[in-house]
Amino acid sequence: MLTLALSKGRIYKETLPLLKAAGIEPLDDPETCRKLILDTTNPNVRLIIVRASDVPTYVEYGGADIGVAGKDVLLEHPNAELYEPIDLKIAECKLMTAGRENEEEITGRLKVATKFVESTRRFYADKGQQVDIIKLYGSMELAPLVGLADRIVDVVDTGNTLRANGLIPMEHIADISSRLVVNKASMKMKHAQIQKFIEQVRSAVEERNND
Ligand code: AMP
Repeated sequence: MLTLALSKGRIYKETLPLLKAAGIEPLDDPETCRKLILDTTNPNVRLIIVRASDVPTYVEYGGADIGVAGKDVLLEHPNAELYEPIDLKIAECKLMTAGRENEEEITGRLKVATKFVESTRRFYADKGQQVDIIKLYGSMELAPLVGLADRIVDVVDTGNTLRANGLIPMEHIADISSRLVVNKASMKMKHAQIQKFIEQVRSAVEERNND
């Protein structure tokens, strides 16, 4: 049995066609049913539905053999023992700093609010800039508007969310897309099955990108 960990929403929707190309179609829709384990048209493959930020943990510790995780999430787990064989080129966006459009001069240490603490710490450390990082779990755009922070670090796609809150993107930290990740022990123990799956997904990604 091969267990694949996916999160609901954008990643799930964009991963479905790639799974279909590998002959895998879920028998239930996680958006409408409450099941967390979904059987598929391949009796040897099941899907588990987990939070996006938990995918690396499930795959690293063998709760799933394979997962699909955003690079933003993987960058927060820099020491995770995982293989990352394919850039699926889905859910693409950028990790960026942002701040108020009309910000006043910042005196003292920069306060940066984010849920991407590890990437933020590394970004400012590489620049040699000491900052105070404030961990948030969502609605980061609020922080500069109410004086909690000077800047935020968040994923940006169209930039509409920032603009709607009077913020502008400032510095580019990383290009983000979803990656296939594989448990290291599974890669050894289920090598033939996983290798075949990887090759099917790889050709589906290439075909889609050639269209
Ligand atoms: P946008 O307004 O198009 O810049 O989208 C920004 C918001 O959508 C962010 O605050 C994120 O919560 C979410 N978002 C956009 N793209 C992604 C992505 N690829 N992965 C995860 N969240 C995303």
